[in-house]
Order: sequence, then structure tokens, then C-alpha cells
Amino acid sequence: MPELPEVETIARRLREVVKDKRLKTIQVLREKSFQGNPDLLVGSTIIDISRRAKILNFTFSNDLHLLVHLKMTGQLIFVDAGTRVGGGHPTDDWVNSLPSKHTRVVIDFEEPGTLFFNDLRVFGWMKVVDQAGVDQEYGKYAPDVNTTEFALQDFQEKLSKRSQPIKVALMDTSIVSGIGNIYANDALHLAKISPLRPAKSLSSKQVKAVYLAARAVIEKGIELGGATIKTYRTVDGLSGDYQSVVRVYQKESQPCLVCSTPIIRIKQAGRSTFYCPHCQK
Ligand SMILES: [Zn+2]
Repeated sequence: MPELPEVETIARRLREVVKDKRLKTIQVLREKSFQGNPDLLVGSTIIDISRRAKILNFTFSNDLHLLVHLKMTGQLIFVDAGTRVGGGHPTDDWVNSLPSKHTRVVIDFEEPGTLFFNDLRVFGWMKVVDQAGVDQEYGKYAPDVNTTEFALQDFQEKLSKRSQPIKVALMDTSIVSGIGNIYANDALHLAKISPLRPAKSLSSKQVKAVYLAARAVIEKGIELGGATIKTYRTVDGLSGDYQSVVRVYQKESQPCLVCSTPIIRIKQAGRSTFYCPHCQK
């Protein structure tokens, strides 16, 4: 599942290739993947691409926005004669010719080039909205972890009211946005805090350690273009490199980077948690 650093990387890569391009046609191949009227975007130019939480926002010259959430298996891939860039869930569609049977929306530009929205499991979506629609969507999420709006004091206050495990709290988007499973695991290892600790049991010093660690691993993730965990680890323009520096995520039974104790894997709230039972208290 693409997390904040992966989605931020897609925004940056696509900004390079589709900004200032005028939309010629938009074909919706799967109704479930698209909300709103796609024709409203035809003839308009993309003036910016940004990201909030895990939502991509294509801003058009007619003041409308195309919001995109990739969810579990979505991909955005831009293709022209000499370019193939984007990202998302790594599958054969990263390298095979497009459209494929998983292509849900096809956007063609006046200038040569096509943007494909592929989504194996069809949980992702595209949505045409005005500014009020953007505000409404963004309003569902607490501040992004990598912004100044994510404040230590506010984080501390929220955690002090939560008895859920700190790992689960870190992934709760009503507390902070953008910390997915890979980075929640790694942040707690960096902060030396057990994922099992009730959030409200952390001292203010420990909350600060988690806060700084969460920001640090997300920044590292963005710097490395996100993580490509399973397949296609090295596809130029599509993959990321965070997996090469990952601390504990998917490292069950491997030695802890700090103390060499084997990493343990457990389940929390339906997701895998990896941690060092020696370093993380
Ligand atoms: Zn350790």
C-alpha cells in the first residue's frame, strides 16, 4: 500500500511531466473508480500537483481539482515516447504495456502523453471537486506528520487520552496523518518504544522521542522516494529505495540493527508489527 512518502514521490514525479499540460480526453473504464463529471476537466490545464495525507490533488486552470486516492493497489503511471514515471502498488503493470486489464481511467493530453490510473482491487478513486470539496476531503485528516501543523503539544494531548497501543495510535489519522505501517514500525524502533505500550502511558520525553522519530523516518522515506517492498525494487521513475534502510519492517527473525536480538513479529489491529524486544521498552 503506498504510504505518505510514496504518494509524495508520485506527486513530485508527475509534477515534472504533466504540469502545464492540457487535458484532451478522459476515459473512465470503470465507473466505481471515478466520482463526478470527468468532462469538466477537458480543455483545462494542470497548474499544480500537490499531496495531503495520501491524497493527490491535480489543480486545473478552471479552478477544479482532480483528487486521487490510490488505496491498497492503485498506480498512476505517465507514459509518453521517452518517459514512464509515477508509482503506486508495484505490479507487472509498472513495466508492461498500458492500458492493461487493471486500467480504470485513461487521461490523454494535448501534448503527447497519457496518464493511466490502474487499480487491481478497485478500492482507489478519482474525484472531480471544487475548492470546497478539497477542503471537505482534507478535513477528514489530522495534520500531516511532515508539516509544522503537526505540533508536539497537540500530539501529546491526543496520546494522553488514548489507551490503545502506541503503534495503533500512530496510524490513527485522527491523531496524525501519513504514518503507515512501514514507518510506524520503524519510528518506534528508532524511538526505542515498545509498540505494545498504551499511548497514554508514555512520558512526555518518550512522546517527544516518538514525535521526532516519526518525522525522521518519513523525511528519510521522502528523500529515498518511498519504499518498494516486494517486487520491482529498481524500476527507474517508479520504484523507491527506503527498503534498503528499513529498520524493522518485514525483518522478522533478523538481527536488530542496534543489539542483534531477533526482531519479533506480532499482529496489532489486523496489521503486522515488527519490533526488538530488547531495545524497545
Ligand atoms: Zn535491539
